[in-house]
Amino acid sequence: MKGLISGIKRMEIHDGDGLRTTVFFKGCPLKCIWCHNPESISFEKQVAFFKEKCISCQLCKWERTPKTAKSCPTSALVLYGEEYETDALIEEIMKDELFFRNGGGGVTLSGGECLSQGDFATDVAKKLKEKGISVYIDTCGFVKREVLQKIMPFTDKFLYDIKAITPEVHKKSTGQDNALILDNLCFLSENNAKIEIRYPLIKGYNDKECAKIGEFLQDLKGITKVKVLQYHNFAGSRYEALDMQNTLPEAETTFDDVQKAVEILKSYNLNAVNGIQED
Ligand code: SF4
Repeated sequence: MKGLISGIKRMEIHDGDGLRTTVFFKGCPLKCIWCHNPESISFEKQVAFFKEKCISCQLCKWERTPKTAKSCPTSALVLYGEEYETDALIEEIMKDELFFRNGGGGVTLSGGECLSQGDFATDVAKKLKEKGISVYIDTCGFVKREVLQKIMPFTDKFLYDIKAITPEVHKKSTGQDNALILDNLCFLSENNAKIEIRYPLIKGYNDKECAKIGEFLQDLKGITKVKVLQYHNFAGSRYEALDMQNTLPEAETTFDDVQKAVEILKSYNLNAVNGIQED
């Protein structure tokens, strides 16, 4: 089976427990205005041009293609989107086996939305589990129920994004309604999945949703943690390099903003943590 991957990050400490290798699947059904992985939004291959790295050698003849990206001597051209067969991806991941086995970690399938390539993600997760490796699925939840059902037996934990409870707030910030996302979360909870909630806190967009999120989560089973994530607007240069419209909000989230949200969530008896402190 084949899938499209936008990148692999090794020895990652932000994508679940222990040292992990994170695989970023290409393509996402949401369009969050604060997305800091713009290279993962499109389902197509893309070549980015980082002009500050270009030495004008003209090896690329000023063409942006997967081929010229591979031969650019300074990585001014970067290809996002590489096709992998399952076994080739597993082989690549297993190069880090010593690190993640000794570091109490494993592999996190992320994106983009890894479950938008559901059959491929399930195939990868199944093969990793056969090797006794911990598999986490980082998902926005806007996915078909059957995909969740298929991948659940090979998943140790879901890292599940909740951005808003109010449908209008969710739609305005992500382009999609959140009914499916909330339903899928309830489904996972009812089926004994372990779930770590991720709440990216964006001032002026979803900061007023905090208490509603606490209320929604308080009675769900299997929620091991609610991690409030800081927002920053560092990804602007990647939007420019990809010729994508930069939608990043200006206002960054401070430590105190995150801490206030943590305290609100704790008042709902949730194990809420400050993502800045934890990372
Ligand atoms: S190959 Fe790379 S460094 Fe050379 S001109 Fe093209 S983009 Fe610039």
